[in-house]
Amino acid sequence: MAEDKNTLDPDADPYWEGAAKGVLRYRRCTNCSIAIFYPRSICPNCGATDPKWAVSEGAGVVYACTTVHRAPPAFAERAPYTVLLVDLDEGFRMMGGLLSEPCETTVVVGDRVTVTFTDGPDGRPAPYFKPV
Ligand SMILES: [Zn+2]
Repeated sequence: MAEDKNTLDPDADPYWEGAAKGVLRYRRCTNCSIAIFYPRSICPNCGATDPKWAVSEGAGVVYACTTVHRAPPAFAERAPYTVLLVDLDEGFRMMGGLLSEPCETTVVVGDRVTVTFTDGPDGRPAPYFKPV
Protein backbone atom coordinates (compact mmCIF):
# COMPACT_ATOMS: atom_id res chain seq x y z
CA MET A 1 0.00 0.00 0.00
CA ALA A 2 1.39 3.38 -0.94
CA GLU A 3 1.59 5.99 1.78
CA ASP A 4 -0.86 8.82 1.38
CA LYS A 5 0.06 11.70 3.63
CA ASN A 6 -3.48 13.06 3.35
CA THR A 7 -4.87 10.08 5.22
CA LEU A 8 -2.47 10.39 8.17
CA ASP A 9 -3.46 12.09 11.40
CA PRO A 10 -1.13 15.01 12.17
CA ASP A 11 -2.05 14.64 15.86
CA ALA A 12 -0.21 11.32 15.77
CA ASP A 13 3.05 12.64 14.26
CA PRO A 14 4.97 12.32 17.58
CA TYR A 15 3.87 8.66 17.70
CA TRP A 16 5.31 7.99 14.24
CA GLU A 17 8.49 9.94 14.99
CA GLY A 18 8.97 7.80 18.10
CA ALA A 19 8.17 4.58 16.28
CA ALA A 20 10.84 5.39 13.69
CA LYS A 21 13.35 5.43 16.56
CA GLY A 22 11.93 2.32 18.24
CA VAL A 23 10.19 4.36 20.96
CA LEU A 24 6.55 3.74 21.85
CA ARG A 25 4.77 7.00 22.61
CA TYR A 26 1.26 7.44 23.93
CA ARG A 27 -0.69 10.28 25.52
CA ARG A 28 -1.86 10.82 29.07
CA CYS A 29 -4.74 13.11 30.00
CA THR A 30 -3.66 16.05 32.15
CA ASN A 31 -7.17 16.22 33.67
CA CYS A 32 -8.23 12.63 34.48
CA SER A 33 -4.80 10.94 34.06
CA ILE A 34 -5.90 8.05 31.85
CA ALA A 35 -3.47 6.69 29.27
CA ILE A 36 -4.67 7.32 25.71
CA PHE A 37 -3.85 5.09 22.77
CA TYR A 38 -4.12 5.44 19.81
CA PRO A 39 -2.89 8.99 20.29
CA ARG A 40 -5.66 11.59 20.11
CA SER A 41 -5.79 15.28 20.90
CA ILE A 42 -9.00 14.95 22.96
CA CYS A 43 -9.34 12.65 25.97
CA PRO A 44 -11.95 9.93 25.22
CA ASN A 45 -12.80 9.75 28.94
CA CYS A 46 -13.33 13.38 30.01
CA GLY A 47 -13.03 15.44 26.82
CA ALA A 48 -10.03 17.46 28.00
CA THR A 49 -7.84 18.74 25.18
CA ASP A 50 -4.12 18.47 24.55
CA PRO A 51 -3.13 15.42 26.61
CA LYS A 52 0.61 15.24 27.24
CA TRP A 53 2.91 12.88 25.37
CA ALA A 54 4.60 10.11 27.31
CA VAL A 55 7.01 7.28 26.56
CA SER A 56 6.05 3.70 27.29
CA GLU A 57 8.58 1.15 28.48
CA GLY A 58 6.96 -1.11 25.86
CA ALA A 59 6.27 -3.97 28.26
CA GLY A 60 2.90 -5.55 28.88
CA VAL A 61 0.70 -8.62 29.09
CA VAL A 62 -1.01 -10.43 26.22
CA TYR A 63 -4.77 -9.74 26.46
CA ALA A 64 -5.74 -11.67 23.31
CA CYS A 65 -4.13 -13.26 20.28
CA THR A 66 -5.24 -14.67 16.98
CA THR A 67 -3.55 -16.13 13.93
CA VAL A 68 -4.52 -14.64 10.59
CA HIS A 69 -4.59 -17.07 7.67
CA ARG A 70 -6.64 -15.01 5.18
CA ALA A 71 -4.93 -11.65 5.26
CA PRO A 72 -5.90 -8.35 3.64
CA PRO A 73 -3.92 -7.64 0.44
CA ALA A 74 -1.21 -5.54 2.13
CA PHE A 75 -0.37 -8.41 4.49
CA ALA A 76 -1.04 -11.38 2.19
CA GLU A 77 2.62 -12.32 1.77
CA ARG A 78 3.07 -12.45 5.55
CA ALA A 79 0.21 -14.90 6.25
CA PRO A 80 -0.12 -16.81 8.41
CA TYR A 81 0.83 -14.34 11.12
CA THR A 82 -0.24 -13.64 14.66
CA VAL A 83 -1.84 -10.45 15.93
CA LEU A 84 -1.88 -9.57 19.62
CA LEU A 85 -3.80 -7.21 21.84
CA VAL A 86 -1.45 -6.21 24.64
CA ASP A 87 -2.20 -4.38 27.89
CA LEU A 88 0.83 -2.14 28.38
CA ASP A 89 2.06 -1.52 31.90
CA GLU A 90 1.23 2.20 31.58
CA GLY A 91 -2.48 1.39 31.32
CA PHE A 92 -3.44 1.25 27.66
CA ARG A 93 -4.18 -1.55 25.22
CA MET A 94 -2.74 -1.74 21.73
CA MET A 95 -2.56 -4.09 18.77
CA GLY A 96 0.64 -5.42 17.27
CA GLY A 97 2.09 -8.39 15.49
CA LEU A 98 3.99 -11.25 17.09
CA LEU A 99 7.67 -11.53 16.19
CA SER A 100 7.82 -15.31 15.95
CA GLU A 101 5.71 -18.34 15.15
CA PRO A 102 1.89 -18.40 15.48
CA CYS A 103 0.74 -17.60 18.99
CA GLU A 104 -0.73 -21.02 19.75
CA THR A 105 2.80 -22.30 20.14
CA THR A 106 4.72 -19.30 21.43
CA VAL A 107 2.55 -17.01 23.56
CA VAL A 108 -0.70 -17.33 25.44
CA VAL A 109 -3.00 -14.84 27.12
CA GLY A 110 -1.26 -13.55 30.23
CA ASP A 111 2.31 -13.86 28.91
CA ARG A 112 4.68 -10.91 29.27
CA VAL A 113 5.87 -9.32 26.02
CA THR A 114 7.85 -6.27 24.91
CA VAL A 115 7.39 -4.10 21.86
CA THR A 116 9.76 -3.48 19.00
CA PHE A 117 9.21 -1.79 15.66
CA THR A 118 9.87 -3.18 12.19
CA ASP A 119 8.89 -1.96 8.75
CA GLY A 120 5.21 -2.48 8.05
CA PRO A 121 3.75 -3.22 4.59
CA ASP A 122 3.34 0.49 3.89
CA GLY A 123 6.96 1.23 4.78
CA ARG A 124 6.13 2.89 8.10
CA PRO A 125 7.32 1.35 11.36
CA ALA A 126 4.83 -1.17 12.76
CA PRO A 127 4.69 -2.44 16.36
CA TYR A 128 5.54 -6.08 16.97
CA PHE A 129 5.78 -7.88 20.28
CA LYS A 130 8.19 -10.55 21.40
CA PRO A 131 7.94 -12.80 24.45
CA VAL A 132 10.01 -11.74 27.46
ZN1 LIG B 1 -9.32 12.84 30.61
